[in-house]
Amino acid sequence: MATPDLTPDLLEDIRADLEAQLAQLEKSMAVTEEAVRPVELDQQAVGRLSRMDSLQNQHMSQNLQEREQVRYAAIQAALRRIEEGSYGRCTACGSTLLPGRLMVMPEVEQCSGCSS
Ligand SMILES: [Zn+2]
Repeated sequence: MATPDLTPDLLEDIRADLEAQLAQLEKSMAVTEEAVRPVELDQQAVGRLSRMDSLQNQHMSQNLQEREQVRYAAIQAALRRIEEGSYGRCTACGSTLLPGRLMVMPEVEQCSGCSS
């Protein structure tokens, strides 16, 4: 299969994809936000084990929140590059990114040479 060029149509597809991902991420971030709230437990009702469980869950949610925030910023940056017309170029060396790569990872910023 030949690699398609980054045509306006394809760019529009990628923009729609990024916007959909951003909307989805906003929803899951709201859920994560709930999960990382300080654990308030009824000490009478909850045993030590479940308290440890919920602290562990909170910790996992914090890790998730960090990953979501990084991804959110990356998607927003990609949308900004589309607006600016610099999308599709490696932010490090300026070489053209492969459209096939952009379709799989639309928020990618650097070519495979620079990001490895
Ligand atoms: Zn590069």
